[in-house]
Order: sequence, then structure tokens, then C-alpha cells
Amino acid sequence: MLYDNHGRLINYVRLAVTDRCNLRCFYCMPEEGIKFLSKNSILSYEEMVRLITLLSEMGINKVRLTGGEPFVRRDIMDFIRSIAALDNIKKIALTTNGTLTAPYVKEFKDLKISSVNLSLDSLDPNRFFEVTRRDEFHNVMKTLDKLLEHGIETKINSVVMQGKNEKDILPMVEMARNTPLSIRFIEEMPFNGTGQHHKDWVWHHKTIIEHIRQAYPSLEKIPDEPHSTSFNYTIEGFKGTIGVIAAYSRSFCGTCNRIRLTPQGLLKTCLYDSGVFNVRDLMRAGATDDDIKTAFLEAIGHRAKNGFEAEQQRFMGAPVTESMTTIGG
Ligand code: SAM
Repeated sequence: MLYDNHGRLINYVRLAVTDRCNLRCFYCMPEEGIKFLSKNSILSYEEMVRLITLLSEMGINKVRLTGGEPFVRRDIMDFIRSIAALDNIKKIALTTNGTLTAPYVKEFKDLKISSVNLSLDSLDPNRFFEVTRRDEFHNVMKTLDKLLEHGIETKINSVVMQGKNEKDILPMVEMARNTPLSIRFIEEMPFNGTGQHHKDWVWHHKTIIEHIRQAYPSLEKIPDEPHSTSFNYTIEGFKGTIGVIAAYSRSFCGTCNRIRLTPQGLLKTCLYDSGVFNVRDLMRAGATDDDIKTAFLEAIGHRAKNGFEAEQQRFMGAPVTESMTTIGG
């Protein structure tokens, strides 16, 4: 079992398999000008398998694949098969925009993929286009249908933005009436690659919940699973649940059980830190398995207490501005 310096169990790694994405969500990255990493600078599949193997020997038993968009990386399913074959890896989860995912869903259960986070910010194809700058709404809905058809636990992640998609909050909630979906609303964070953040922050977890409660007075808090990043609720007669992720308020750090690896191999022990060390460089310099494990242990033994402390400790106190696609959301 792996514990950090604050006594938190660490058993979960989020691995961004690419920084590339086929959407251009405005809250995540600028429409143009993003410099994607060269093939050689991102971790190869062999390097990623080695890292996941080592981490699984240290106590990591859950891997989430994210990006960028995981399904834009060629041969991603072969990589997933390799890590699903590791005995200590009990669960593989995915975060996907769903544009390319549908054809693969039938294989998920055999590959330890029991849960998928599907990003969807609007149920209106025009608003979807405004947010993502791509006409892919119908492909995302195909993936959603497939996930439901194959009984994959699905969480819809929706970033709530004033003037963009607040009209979608209640229709999104309605999706949980007759399906076992978990609809989760996320606070917008400054990770948009532009260096600018909203001036008036309207939609934080409390205002989102109050908005929903006004329309659904039976909204009631339910217990959250251990290490949950969302505060979860039920509505009378609904099959699914509603959640809010206080990603900017950062009120869930006390139970954080995860570390992150960016596509170029930077270890982040908190979303808000600027990276602890680059494990790709270590590997390419010939590090042994023990060297790598020692470096992970050292990093996990010096984690920031929460996202505010991590942000303060960034290099020269620089605020977060990088695009989420380069980190792995
Ligand atoms: N391409 C995949 C997807 O769309 O789910 C995985 C990567 S994406 C960066 C992961 C998640 O980060 C998405 O749910 C996205 O909405 C969220 N995200 C990106 N930028 C964000 C921001 N500035 N604030 C809050 N969430 C953000």
C-alpha cells in the first residue's frame, strides 16, 4: 500500500496518453496556435507499459486513461490490452470526448474498463459546436448509446460556463431520470492555455446545486464514494444521480488518492502543481526499475496538502495557464 506524507492512500494514476485532441473546447485550449508535442517527446507505449507495471507493483491498482483524446492515438486498444493483462491493475477507467469511441465499447468489459467519463457540455448540437468548435455532437451521442447498451457505468462530465451552456443544466439533469447515468457538473478551471480566466465566476458548486434544487426540490444529498471528486445527489424517481465537481474550489483534496502522468512523462502529484519530475527523461537516461520506484516514492512523500498549496508552490508562483489537453484532464 502506498501512502503520501499526509497519510492519504495513493492507488490511482491518471495517464494522459496524448496531448492531441480532435475537439477545440474553448475552455480547454485556444482554437489555433496550440503546439502539440512531437511523437518522440511523448511517452511510447512501451514506456507507459513499463511505468504502469512499476506503479502496479507499488500499490497502484486503478488507471485512468485520458488526454488529449485517448482515441486519437493510434493503436490505443493494443496498449489498453497490455495494461489490462497486468494482475495488479484491477480497474481501467477512461475519460473521453466520445467522438471516436463507439466502435470500441463492446470490448470494454473484457479489458477491465467498467467505467467511462464522457465529456458532454451541451445537448443542443449548435451549442455543442459553439463550445467544442467541431460538429461532432451526433458521434458523442452514438458513444453514449453504446455505453448504456453495454452496461458500462457512465458519468457525464459537463463544464458549466456562464453565457455558454447554463441552459443545458436542467436538460442534462433530465438525462438521469430514466437512465442510470451520473450527470456531473464541473466548475470551470483556468486550464485553458490562454492565461485568462472568467472575470465573474457564476457557476460554482453551490450555485449549480441551488439552480438544480429550484427545479427539483426533492434533490437530496447521498453519501459519496471514498475518494470521490464529486458531491452527489439523488432526485426522487430518478434512476441516475447528479453530481458537482468543485474543481476550482478544490474542496475534495483531503481524500485525494491520485497522481498524474502527462503525455511527456511529467509526474504531477496534484493537478495544480507544475510537475515534480520527468520520468520519461529518467527512463531515457537508463534508470533502473528501482531508480524509478525510488523517484516516485520521493515525490509521493512530498505532496502538497491541497490544490491551493500546490498552486502556491509552482515555479516562481506562476499561476496556472496551461491547457488541460497538455496535462490530462
Ligand atoms: N478528451 C477527453 C475528454 O474530452 O474527456 C479527455 C481529456 S479532457 C482535457 C478531460 C476533461 O477535462 C473533460 O471533461 C474536460 O471537460 C475537462 N476540462 C478541460 N479543460 C477544463 C477547464 N478549463 N475547466 C474544467 N474542466 C476542464
